[in-house]
Amino acid sequence: MSLDVTLQTDPGAISSDPVEEARRQIEICNACRYCEGFCSVFPAITRQKVFTDGDITQLANLCHNCRGCYYACQYTAPHEFDLNLPAALASARAESWERFAWPGGLADVFQRKGTALAAALVVGCAMMFMAVAALPGEGEGFYAYLGHTAMVLIFLPAFLLPLAAIVVGLRRYWAETGGTTVTMADLHDAAKSAATLKNLDGGQGQGCNFEVEERFSDERRMAHQAVMWGFLMCFASTASATILHYVFATPAPYGFFSVPKLLGVPGGILLTLGCAGLLVLKGKADPALGTPKRASGEWAFVWLLGFVALSGLLLYALRESVLTGPLLALHLGSVLTFFLLTPYSKMAHGFYRFAALVREAQDRRAS
Ligand code: SF4
Ligand code: SF4
Repeated sequence: MSLDVTLQTDPGAISSDPVEEARRQIEICNACRYCEGFCSVFPAITRQKVFTDGDITQLANLCHNCRGCYYACQYTAPHEFDLNLPAALASARAESWERFAWPGGLADVFQRKGTALAAALVVGCAMMFMAVAALPGEGEGFYAYLGHTAMVLIFLPAFLLPLAAIVVGLRRYWAETGGTTVTMADLHDAAKSAATLKNLDGGQGQGCNFEVEERFSDERRMAHQAVMWGFLMCFASTASATILHYVFATPAPYGFFSVPKLLGVPGGILLTLGCAGLLVLKGKADPALGTPKRASGEWAFVWLLGFVALSGLLLYALRESVLTGPLLALHLGSVLTFFLLTPYSKMAHGFYRFAALVREAQDRRAS
């Protein structure tokens, strides 16, 4: 079988370079166009004839690895084109995050040794919190174990420094993909797409076949939404507690019918369930359609996020028990690890995906 078009690259010349290989496969898709309605990637491909490295980066970050295009494709192995677009884009995507990460090199280490690194950091940070907790506390509730000043001194830089690293990475992404001035309309379109996870609906609303070829379902979309909304609610819970503390001079602990708890408890439950769902689905899916060399980092990220949520819920359920001290140390250790690894773990994908959706909104408006 052959494609009746002129391609820039040899369609049968498989490359070991992730960007070159993604370019080869994207050019074949641009000639074929069978998957046009599957997701935002294909309409974006058809808007162009030539694909720069920045275009490949943008397309790779627009892909949600739903795998629908692989199972629909007539050019997968044993065809000589050996198409595997989800894997090609996943490799180019991971390569882009590692290249944009600042300081360089750390993302590569996490992606390849993520599980061991995250586990070691959680244990190390938890031991540090146990040691700090041995010092006199400054209040009631959890502050009796770890004073508010110590918390701020540890967590403020651990939050701001990774945030600065993410900003550096996003600026690099924007420059490479040719992004222009962001408008409210761009942000609105991107936020709408992110909130509904439109790209995971399979194109016709039937859901994706991430785990099994013949089974379309919305489970991955729902698990992702649980993680996203759960995370945002937990973040809002922490932000509201900070406002209560500093603006209204109302320090923790807070009762169940307070804003921090009404956001934090359901948020933690959603986050735990979402991470569990993603782990189950990931366990069923074919690793050859993802990024096998980065599997450790991908698993570690979901485990870590789920552990942060679960340990937070346990801490709340078992407060004022003999387990409070060790659970607090473990929970804070996992939160600190999560913050420190954010620019280098798959957590970065949330930022780059959103940037890709904003960039896509700009491209659609310009075309
Ligand atoms: S994934 Fe396969 S079927 Fe789909 S557009 Fe590309 S070449 Fe065509
Ligand atoms: S894996 Fe899914 S999201 Fe990615 S290009 Fe294929 S159909 Fe689109």
